[in-house]
Amino acid sequence: MDRQIYLDNAATTKMSRTAIEAMLPYFDKTFGNPSSLHTAGQRAAEALSYARSKVASLLGCEPREITFTSGGSEADNQAIISAAAIGERQGKKHIISTAFEHHAVLHTLEKLKKQGFEITLLDVGERGLITPQQVGEAIRGDTCLVTIMYANNEIGTIQPIAEIGAVCREKGVIFHTDAVQAAGHIHINVKQQNIDMLSLSAHKFHGPKGIGALYVKKGIVITSVIEGGAQERGKRAGTENIPAIMGMAAAFEEACKSIDENAAKLTVLRDRLIDGISEIPHCILNGDREKRQPSNVNFCFEGIEGESLLLLLDDKGICASSGSACTSGSLDPSHVLLAIGRPHEVAHGSLRLSLSEENTVDEIDYTIKSVKETVEYLRSISPVWRDLASGKKEFVLK
Ligand SMILES: *Cc1c(COP(=O)(O)O)cnc(C)c1O
Repeated sequence: MDRQIYLDNAATTKMSRTAIEAMLPYFDKTFGNPSSLHTAGQRAAEALSYARSKVASLLGCEPREITFTSGGSEADNQAIISAAAIGERQGKKHIISTAFEHHAVLHTLEKLKKQGFEITLLDVGERGLITPQQVGEAIRGDTCLVTIMYANNEIGTIQPIAEIGAVCREKGVIFHTDAVQAAGHIHINVKQQNIDMLSLSAHKFHGPKGIGALYVKKGIVITSVIEGGAQERGKRAGTENIPAIMGMAAAFEEACKSIDENAAKLTVLRDRLIDGISEIPHCILNGDREKRQPSNVNFCFEGIEGESLLLLLDDKGICASSGSACTSGSLDPSHVLLAIGRPHEVAHGSLRLSLSEENTVDEIDYTIKSVKETVEYLRSISPVWRDLASGKKEFVLK
């Protein structure tokens, strides 16, 4: 089958025509180094300044509050390391986050823990939601940072960011949000939402890979994680990737313009997909049904392995993802699914389908049919399923 249905937009997105075209002149025509004093350099510097203003205005902040990074991971690292450095200077070494953050956040926190920081990971509950009250109760006199993701990359749940930000502001604690899945998909205004630091990444909203941005509220001193030249006002060394920065600005602008229109379209497709897949016996939707991204569908199926499901769907032309990433030989189930309380054996049988506005009803219907057939087939050859079906073992999912 030649058909390819791309349902892995939380992993990365196809670049938009607008973004590609915005990049092209900066490979050969305006290729200067923005740090150079000659005209060619100054043209590149103008582009850089234009892109910074564009990204800033789309987030509701000032251009000087934006630092370009190599992507979401670097922005997360830099935000957390910066807040920790400020905390350390003030003798505050407690950080609050959640158990289902992206590894760019969790692994940075683990590193800080080895350096004597105390980390509190809030319980996200079965629905995958944090409350502002939880955050308020966890904040202590020595808390230097609260870092909570805007929208979860696996189960799509959306946190009450403005309310959490208000709690942090009231208590005088820096609030960072990993908004990589939210930027370009949800309306963001860092001032109105009480956000002190925010990470975003272009390739999650139809921009190029390897470029992102970190917003840091003025007054908060940020630490360089890459040493070298004085680019980005000394906050991030290395010659700026002008084509990617221009592509990101164009993609971000385009995405922000169509947030409402895309959300309306995606919600219809998502709900159709959820309703269709829900007809499969012994499966469960992961993440709150309402407070989730219009693009996210994530299910666990009892008695199957997520990897097998993925490979068979790929044979049918469907690109999907499973939470149970097989990392370096060990089959660890997704930390996100474990955080919402799915038992190991159930977490292994997960499937994430993340949509884009280019998907069609026809593709959704074909996907429902394919998932149903494939789950049924995998169960028919599974010894685990045989034990469940014969009553030898009890179902976890009713
Ligand atoms: C993709 C992603 C990242 C990492 O972004 P990169 O640009 O790929 O480094 C971080 N956080 C979340 C929530 C993501 O989805």
